[in-house]
Amino acid sequence: MAMYEALDLLDIAGICKYDDPTYILRDCDCCADTPVWFGIKPEPIYGKSQPIYPRKPGRRDTPYQQETYLEHLLPLEEYECVRVLFSGGKDSLCAYLHLRELGVPKEKIILHHHDIDGGNTERIMDWKCTRAYVEAFAKAEGVKLEVSWREKGFFGELYRLGASEPVSWQDPDTGEVMRCKLTPNYIKSQQIRESDMPEAEKIAALKELGYRFKWPAKGSIASGRYCSAYLKSMVLSSVISSMDSFPEKTLVVSGERAGESHMRSNLDEMQLHARSNSRRTIHAWKCVFNFSERDVWEVIKRNHINPHPVYRASFSRCSCSACIFLSPELWATFREIYPEEFEMLKEDEKRMNFTIDARCDLENFVGDAKPRNIHCDARALHSLRTGEFNVDEVYVKDWKYPAGAFRGSEGGSPC
Ligand code: SF4
Repeated sequence: MAMYEALDLLDIAGICKYDDPTYILRDCDCCADTPVWFGIKPEPIYGKSQPIYPRKPGRRDTPYQQETYLEHLLPLEEYECVRVLFSGGKDSLCAYLHLRELGVPKEKIILHHHDIDGGNTERIMDWKCTRAYVEAFAKAEGVKLEVSWREKGFFGELYRLGASEPVSWQDPDTGEVMRCKLTPNYIKSQQIRESDMPEAEKIAALKELGYRFKWPAKGSIASGRYCSAYLKSMVLSSVISSMDSFPEKTLVVSGERAGESHMRSNLDEMQLHARSNSRRTIHAWKCVFNFSERDVWEVIKRNHINPHPVYRASFSRCSCSACIFLSPELWATFREIYPEEFEMLKEDEKRMNFTIDARCDLENFVGDAKPRNIHCDARALHSLRTGEFNVDEVYVKDWKYPAGAFRGSEGGSPC
């Protein structure tokens, strides 16, 4: 207990704080010396008829919470498929590894990746190597990878006139690209575009169906942070609804953790997924919800996985490369990695007459902030700049904490 005393992890009665299900170790208070608490290798439970209960019961305060309340998960072996929402960041990586350590066989797992850029080759929002990292990891592990996207990606949604673009996904078995059912408003938008209406009337009619031309708000989804909804959660929901052969019992696993932010700490660990219905049971589980950042790295370390290059280039989060929530220091770091993209973002602000930060333009927001050191790992920087990441880079023998470890979650995204 001496170490825990020194680290102030005992309460007045001498009980370890981690034993209190409401205790959350925030990322900003976590360091390499924090004891590993939940990241200790678990006993496999797959096949042992063990339902899984949340550490802290879910809430039923609102109608939505009552509708999605889930007392416990089924025993893991009862799910026909486990879909892991896999961004390539450390938390979703840890979630996958944790499932494997619990004994879930690879054949039951599908890594589901949202491609935020949706194949838009002109403008990209994500790190250039994220798709390559995710593909290399799935290949090295021998697990299926399913990729979904909103066509034209982030910048298509940013410069949207008319309805949102359709959602597509790639079948992990055949590689075939499938398109979700088109929305009535998208069909109408296409009819207007192809009509012989005068240009001004076309624009007015399209505006009736939707008009964006502004950055997502730096706040909650309800306050206008549309990016995570339109490019991630709604995309997955459309894919689930469109799949004819969706399994009867599916577990959707994500890597959100309570220690990341106050907002996340208020989420429930498990829920009935919004697309669950009488024909198919879909449960959602944040399987590393109580893990500290130290726990997460511990799991990645003992599995010898090379984390996404962005951590090795000093970033603490693997959000979109140009995430609207970046701090001035991280924008300065982004500018050093992608100077041309930085200039294009400044142009976007001028074109739309709408700045990413509500108070000032990007140049002034960055001000004289100094970039983090991106030169500590030459290969990581090369990957970020070129988009290269190979299968033979997935596992590393001499695992070291990346430069971005234990730097808190400042400037990261909440999505
Ligand atoms: S990472 Fe940032 S920019 Fe990207 S979807 Fe999330 S909040 Fe939006």
